Amino acid sequence: MSVMDIFETMEYGPAPEASSLALNWIQARQPFQLFINNQWVKPLQEQYFESSNPATSKALTQIASADAADVDAAVAAARQAFPSWSKTPGHGRARYMYALARHIQKHARLLAVLESLDNGKTIRETRDIDIPLVARHFYYHAGWAQLMESELADYQPVGVVGQIIPWNFPLLMLAWKIAPALAMGNTVVLKPARYTSLSALKFAEIVQEVGLPAGVINIVTGEASKAGDALVKHPDVNKIAFTGSTDVGRSIRRTTAGSGKKLSLELGGKSPFIVFDDADLDSVVEGVVDAIWFNQGQVCCAGSRLLVQENITDRLLSKLRARMENLRIGDPLDKTMDIGALISPAQRDEIAHLVAQGIAEGAEAWQPSSICPASGSFFPPTLLTNVSPASTLAQIEIFGPVLVAMTFRTPAEAIELANNTRYGLAASIWSDNINLALDIAPKVKAGSVWINCTNLFDASCGFGGYRESGYGREGGKEGLYEYLKPAWQSNTAKASLKADNAQEEAMDVQDVSILNEIQEATTEALPAIDRTPKLFIDGKQARPDSGYSLTITSVDGRVLGEVGEGNRKDIRNAVEAAHKASAWATGSAHNRAQILFYLAENLAAREVEFAHRIVAQTGRSYADAFHEVQVSLSRLFSYAAWTDKYEGSVHRPPLRGVTLALKEAIGVIGIACPDEYPLLGFLSLVAPAIAMGNTVVVLPSPGAPLSATDCYQLFETSDIPAGVINIVTGDRESLSQILAEHHDVNAVWYFGSAAGSKSIELASSSNMKRTWVNYGHARHWLDRVQGEGEEFLREATQVKNIWVPFGE
Ligand code: NDP
Repeated sequence: MSVMDIFETMEYGPAPEASSLALNWIQARQPFQLFINNQWVKPLQEQYFESSNPATSKALTQIASADAADVDAAVAAARQAFPSWSKTPGHGRARYMYALARHIQKHARLLAVLESLDNGKTIRETRDIDIPLVARHFYYHAGWAQLMESELADYQPVGVVGQIIPWNFPLLMLAWKIAPALAMGNTVVLKPARYTSLSALKFAEIVQEVGLPAGVINIVTGEASKAGDALVKHPDVNKIAFTGSTDVGRSIRRTTAGSGKKLSLELGGKSPFIVFDDADLDSVVEGVVDAIWFNQGQVCCAGSRLLVQENITDRLLSKLRARMENLRIGDPLDKTMDIGALISPAQRDEIAHLVAQGIAEGAEAWQPSSICPASGSFFPPTLLTNVSPASTLAQIEIFGPVLVAMTFRTPAEAIELANNTRYGLAASIWSDNINLALDIAPKVKAGSVWINCTNLFDASCGFGGYRESGYGREGGKEGLYEYLKPAWQSNTAKASLKADNAQEEAMDVQDVSILNEIQEATTEALPAIDRTPKLFIDGKQARPDSGYSLTITSVDGRVLGEVGEGNRKDIRNAVEAAHKASAWATGSAHNRAQILFYLAENLAAREVEFAHRIVAQTGRSYADAFHEVQVSLSRLFSYAAWTDKYEGSVHRPPLRGVTLALKEAIGVIGIACPDEYPLLGFLSLVAPAIAMGNTVVVLPSPGAPLSATDCYQLFETSDIPAGVINIVTGDRESLSQILAEHHDVNAVWYFGSAAGSKSIELASSSNMKRTWVNYGHARHWLDRVQGEGEEFLREATQVKNIWVPFGE
């Protein structure tokens, strides 16, 4: 090649990263063993599996394959380490975590090369993105360990956590999971993905180097069906944190249902990349490259659906094709490569199969003329047009370098297309009109929204999904709660009862007896006018579809009244009404606060009547019942107060711009109320849900529903818009099951039996809705610590992070 040729083509020379150090490191340690109690131990069955380099298909090493007995040993080590690690002062844990961050930086190059060799991702990405972010996660969470005692004083670690991570960001996912768990005082058993265990094993060496106490971190390599399954089912694991496919997430939800294990799931996505006609198209093209060709498109939040405003489609696509011609695909260890290898031949074949299926359905495929290497798992960057929104290509997560393009005309159409997916992980919005971008961001159902940027991550900004992309957040303060439980949960139910009695005794008995006398005098002579509450749907009383009523009796068998017996159709109508009222979420928080205050005012006007109703249904003393009404009033005031104070925050990631963390309503919440405290239990759940902008379908206390049905008139006179609160009386167990199975219900709260809790968690897996259940445990509703506050508000919201870079 002449100098002139080189000048003409401006072809890159190769810039290979040396792999010898990493290969020697592997060679010296193989076969790799399990890391339990800070020791390298052989798997009991002495089984090993092969790990290979996806860019060459050549074997790299042999790695231990753990089975259930090995997982037992790892969990036992973590359990033994827990008491002392959880009691280590935050400052002590912060020092260890700081050391982990420092040592990751010291070994940064080796980790970057190992990750490239093992996963096939380019060295450019592992060196400049993965490993720096790993270190950042440990630094950031070292800070939270330091601050835990003052900032999270009412919380405790959950215990031993089982963590299962995927192969697409092996070390980064490890850091996202281990850093918050350790910071909050938990101990860990982590299972890496079978394809990519090496960086986790290097991390285990770092754990030894920094002298982390034995058993705090245990790493069990192996297969999903053995090590993974055993970890998920282990009875001594208190929490499972999983990142991976939605199907596996769903099966983990089913397996852990009713076990009381805390669960967080980071699942798949099909994220929209929305381009308006005033966007800077050259920046958009670079954005698309980062959105879908970063990590070969094997990114859960990849911008895989390009939604373009119709009038600029041709211009944008021709710029994009020109850019695709220049993408370089090949050896991941060559620093000039844009695209490396896919994780495996199976993944490549699956991508090829989905693309072929899309073409058969009518899509047009375009690929650049550059050639992929012949050996190894490579697939060319691919653009598909003429794709209909309902087609396989537009709906299925392809998890590869494949972009589908569709068009829209108006912002409303863009939102409709963007939300036309079962997922909700991320979205990218491109426009030079910040008013438009900030108007669209809250309307897209996704956990992260990037404005004029894409695929940005930071430890301070929580990451996680809406809908079938899972629940729970990783990063930010919100991510810490995934590894915490309220301190009061360690206390026994006995303590609760004692506190109840003490409060009852504190009542002013004289006041109560006067109120009793008044009540009796006014109800002496005439028979009561019949009052039969129906269901309450869409702001109106509605007859139950079944045409049946249920008789409600007092504890001594007197008939107190009848309520409608709701069924599946009533739930369907109630859910429809709740969706119709979704504007409740976008109204002002001030307005919602005013309405909650007004509701309290109207309840206070009828406090004696409500207290008598509680007495009649429960047989409790009037003093006790009157106290329940007073606490209910205070609770309404609390949530009226919180409505405009439970706010988001502005994060400061290393970026010229801001990240707005908004606390958004979840949507429609189904609520099954506890048996006890018919008024307080009902209002303690409804008030936080509606305060945060959700609409609700409520199943009142099964034995004592009349306190809830008595509220109909309060709602009607308190300016609560139709459909915000819907009430269906009847059998709590079967109706809550219908709510949990309903695909248009976004979350279910259930306060009933242990068996009921389990079946709610099982049924919720159908659309991966969030659940909050009590596993049959009592809660002290009168107590402000247990009966109200941030725990309720957190359950009523989900955090959306909107990234807004700025500057000319
Ligand atoms: P999986 O969800 O199957 O695997 C993720 C992790 O879970 C791995 O460690 C895996 O172990 C483990 N695992 C799998 N099944 C179980 C189980 N039943 N119980 C316990 N642990 C289990 O993802 P795949 O690696 O199979 O990838 C398949 C598809 O999933 C991809 O094509 C992509 O669409 C999606 N995916 C999404 C990711 C995301 O970040 N959202 C990440 C990875 C994949 P093992 O490695 O031994 O199989």
